[in-house]
Amino acid sequence: LMGAINLGQASPCLEAFASGRAAAKTIFDTIGREPLIDCFSEDGHKLDKVKGDIEFQDVTFYYPSRPDVKILNKLNMEVKAGETTAFVGPSGMGKSTTIQLIQRFYDPHEGKVTLDGHDIRSLNIQWLRSLIGIVEQEPVLFGTTIAENIRYGRLGVSMDDIIHAAKEANAYHFIMDLPQKFDTLVGEGGGQMSGGQKQRIAIARALIRNPKILLLDMATSALDNESEAVVQEALDKVRQGRTTISVAHRLSTIRNADVIIGFDHGEAVERGTHSELMEKKGVYFTLVTLQNQSTTSKSNGKSESEV
Ligand code: ADP
Ligand code: MG
Repeated sequence: LMGAINLGQASPCLEAFASGRAAAKTIFDTIGREPLIDCFSEDGHKLDKVKGDIEFQDVTFYYPSRPDVKILNKLNMEVKAGETTAFVGPSGMGKSTTIQLIQRFYDPHEGKVTLDGHDIRSLNIQWLRSLIGIVEQEPVLFGTTIAENIRYGRLGVSMDDIIHAAKEANAYHFIMDLPQKFDTLVGEGGGQMSGGQKQRIAIARALIRNPKILLLDMATSALDNESEAVVQEALDKVRQGRTTISVAHRLSTIRNADVIIGFDHGEAVERGTHSELMEKKGVYFTLVTLQNQSTTSKSNGKSESEV
């Protein structure tokens, strides 16, 4: 289970509760840190029906370790239910931080984050997190079977659920082509899998509880064009009918978004479609122009710049 924990972020609670308080305590002792927010709290209410509108209202935030650096500065933005919203902007502008706040790994210092109009601090935290599927950075796989990597220690997940999630994530066919199928050992750190396969397993993991909200903060730059296309196709399928936020690193991802929000120093400075923002000639336009330049200058048509 330790491999599940991204020590760079205050997220030890995320999956720990699935395996019980005792396991979680071991983890917190090991990393020498209690979660900032009590993820076992029974407090807070659960909404009967979730639409999936997310809103940031005047959110100001700094990390506890660096109180002098305001990361989000009176951020106001709306992510509409069922739509795909892409966050774009240079590195370090607070995009991933907003993803942390939506999961309540931290709370804002001023302002609020709401779900369907309810301050998420008033909601039951385990229930809130059960609505959210997340795919982050390089997927972390453990040296166990594909099935267990998708299950991720969650209780009450059946083999049927795992198969369903794998199908949704475009992972089912490659898994069934393996001699051991879902019982295939992925190898330590997923060493036996290609980058695109690992990402589709990570997507299946995110989909296992049929989340209303999908948060995608993935680096696809490690993938070759073919793998990227397969992963992209899976993402285009799974975002349907879900509130999806995609921290976009590639133009190809952004083109399919319903709305693009441009970030600059912790503020949402522009919002619109691709053509609207190209006309506006702001943050988005600048990033697209830069990426196009670096694409032209690289013969493989890939760009590492983060759009
Ligand atoms: P983006 O996703 O737009 O690249 P981030 O939200 O990751 O930006 O980061 C915004 C700023 O917050 C950066 O300056 C980054 O160094 C800082 N930051 C991110 N995570 C932490 C953390 N856990 N503790 C302190 N500072 C952090
Ligand atoms: Mg980021």
